[in-house]
Amino acid sequence: MIDGQRKTGAAIRWGMVGGGRGSQIGYIHRAAATRDRYFDMVAGAFDLDPARGRAFGTDLGLDPARCYADYRAMFAAESARPDGIRAVSIATPNNTHYEISKAALLAGIHVICEKPLTFTTAEALDLQRIARDKGLIVGVTYGYSGYQMIEEAARLVADGTLGEIRLVNLQFAHGFHNEAVEEANPAIRWRVDPKFAGPSYVLGDLATHPLYLAEVICPDLRIRRLMCARQSFIASRAPLEDNAVTLMEYEGGAFGTLWTSAVNAGAMHSQRVRIVGSKASVEWWDEHPNQLSLEIQGQPPRLLDRGMGYLHPEALADDRISGGHPEGLFEAWANLYERFALAIEAHDDGAPERVAGLRYPGVEAGIEGVRWVENCVRSADQGGIWVDYR
Ligand code: NAD
Repeated sequence: MIDGQRKTGAAIRWGMVGGGRGSQIGYIHRAAATRDRYFDMVAGAFDLDPARGRAFGTDLGLDPARCYADYRAMFAAESARPDGIRAVSIATPNNTHYEISKAALLAGIHVICEKPLTFTTAEALDLQRIARDKGLIVGVTYGYSGYQMIEEAARLVADGTLGEIRLVNLQFAHGFHNEAVEEANPAIRWRVDPKFAGPSYVLGDLATHPLYLAEVICPDLRIRRLMCARQSFIASRAPLEDNAVTLMEYEGGAFGTLWTSAVNAGAMHSQRVRIVGSKASVEWWDEHPNQLSLEIQGQPPRLLDRGMGYLHPEALADDRISGGHPEGLFEAWANLYERFALAIEAHDDGAPERVAGLRYPGVEAGIEGVRWVENCVRSADQGGIWVDYR
């Protein structure tokens, strides 16, 4: 049970790059990082527009001297202060993740970065190398993985309830961009422009979320080869896709499918993970995150509820208010930020082994997301052929 008691020493001095006024994802970073006082926000370079970024930081109550015009000025000034930031969260468009993360690591600052971590696997591996050399962490905000029922699904797989895993059926298919809404909205426009978004739109932006959930629930599965077809139903989005379907063969015979879309008209998120084993299946929807469906062959289907004593202790450890009351994305993100804090403290104490069993999306998860997108694009751009996963 999480009840606000901090499991680390002092709060981690923390800053943000991006996530400024009007951004989609900035607020949840701040809300999650400070929820249990693991992080203390003291600095920021919040906006591409320096004046707007400074004004925003001041409105958040920060010292105006620590509201910077850009990330370079922030890392230089903060790393020279005895009370400078120890960690930074990066919530800017995709094209900047690599250069900003790299600059932070080189300045000795832990990184928590948005997905997709980088444009290329080579860049993500570079971040991993620098972080390792510097004794720093790179966290990636696959926020849905902080949900209690994802942990429960992982435990049901681990304890053998599902039997041998056969099918991994994934989906993240919303309908919000069924028309060319980017024409009137710059925050969507960059998502469909390869200069800012990278080699994909929905594959990187959406599909990497359920992909990571499947990695958490079924950590032993390894993709052997995949086949991907992608489409641009809004033609001006080409070469980037607004819909894609991927088939995956795993080592050992399991098979996976992933449908991702921004043109699933009428749908809200429609993020769904269904894992089918030889004895039972589990299914989780992000629009009903407090429930997990467990169907055991030959028995009546069950709907497990968050916060209940019949869950595994590891899932209940993430509980904040016991059964019945709903929890949501803010709690899931706060659970992740707690783990980032524990990992940061262990690294700063020179004892990373202390958090060896701690599950959080780190640099490996970031690398895997980028690698998966690269493989999908390689397949799709050759006409949707099977490609060996590399
Ligand atoms: P957005 O366009 O709404 O906001 C981007 C913000 O970054 C703006 O405040 C902008 O001024 C600022 N910015 C841009 N370049 C900057 C720079 N060089 N220095 C400082 N600030 C800069 O974008 P968003 O929807 O908030 O997405 C940001 C990132 O978060 C993207 O990588 C996206 O993929 C990711 N995201 C993740 C989730 C999730 O569930 N984890 C959800 C939404 C978005």
